[in-house]
Amino acid sequence: MIRWIVLVCLLATTVTAQAKYDPDRSAIRDGWRSVQIELGLSDIVPYRIFTLDDPRRLVLDFQGLDTGGISAAPINRADAVTDVRFGPYRPGWTRMVLDLAAPLTLIEAGITTDDRGALLSVRLERASAADFAAAAGAPPDPGWDALTAQALGGLDQRTDDAFVVVLDPGHGGIDPGAERDGITEAHLMLDFAEEIAALLRTQDGVAVVLTRSDDTFVPLFARMSIARGAAADLFISLHADALEEDDAWGASVYTLSEDSGDMAVARLVERHERGDLLAGVDLSVTEDRVTGVLMDLARRSTGPRAKAFAGSIIAEMAVQGVRLNSKPRRAGRFSVLLAADFPSVLIEAGFLSNAQDRENLVNPQSRGRLVAAIAAAVAQYRDEAR
Ligand SMILES: [Zn+2]
Repeated sequence: MIRWIVLVCLLATTVTAQAKYDPDRSAIRDGWRSVQIELGLSDIVPYRIFTLDDPRRLVLDFQGLDTGGISAAPINRADAVTDVRFGPYRPGWTRMVLDLAAPLTLIEAGITTDDRGALLSVRLERASAADFAAAAGAPPDPGWDALTAQALGGLDQRTDDAFVVVLDPGHGGIDPGAERDGITEAHLMLDFAEEIAALLRTQDGVAVVLTRSDDTFVPLFARMSIARGAAADLFISLHADALEEDDAWGASVYTLSEDSGDMAVARLVERHERGDLLAGVDLSVTEDRVTGVLMDLARRSTGPRAKAFAGSIIAEMAVQGVRLNSKPRRAGRFSVLLAADFPSVLIEAGFLSNAQDRENLVNPQSRGRLVAAIAAAVAQYRDEAR
């Protein structure tokens, strides 16, 4: 049994670090108490492979792999693999995640080449749940998930007395968020964040940081780390999820609550946490999720300020004529709201599952009303904080 495999920059002079995925030479098949994975690539690229527990997943990261936007699902013929997906993870890296129906550990992996290109072969074998758990975990590379604002290039030029607003466009990369009519929440929220950033930057003394500035995946805890690294004065997470079962519509603003809230809120929270699971984040090492007495003490200070800010966003949205949810002020146990050192809010700008909301969100003019409301609420918050 192998814990993980990392192949970096071998034959650095000959590796082009750029390869195409070839679905015709790729397959995932059941064997006897095993699973065999073959991936056709046009060339050798650096990769890493490891398993994660709770839920059980196999993660393959490739540097410089172009999947051509092709879904990985059609190559899966194995019953032991319930789902498989591709997506951008961190800049320059593509992640493939397989959901495992059984404890299957990594036995061997290797790349061979012939005149058609490279072939990555991976073999998994059935193991006990205990052995799987013991072997699971990402390779020891603490910097891998810890993206910083500097690394993302999202930090404004700032002076020490600048008021720093961190905008957090939800989802991204391998986690697209809600998808309806060819619109993805991840893309829409990035546009929305850029529009809010542009308006905020016209306010004197305001610096804006985005937790992501392109379509890459950023784990939930890393979003808070970015805000902390940027010395955030305010953190605003932006979403437009889908909740058909609740016939949800209209804008709402969330602050942190200790309990899980009503069913609809619990579903929303679960959907956000699932993004990290789908993307193959190793949640066992996300230290920032640790909460304790110190965090609670700090939240006593930031909590009321977040609530006041959320209230003024709603008030400004009403002024702008934004279509509001019947209960626009809400609370939920969202991971991105757990930071204790700055006030955080999460805005559901509307629901992609609702036709009218979808139209309002896609239309730059009606989206402009949301942008104006948020910028006005930030200005008001700053005035009161002075
Ligand atoms: Zn979302």
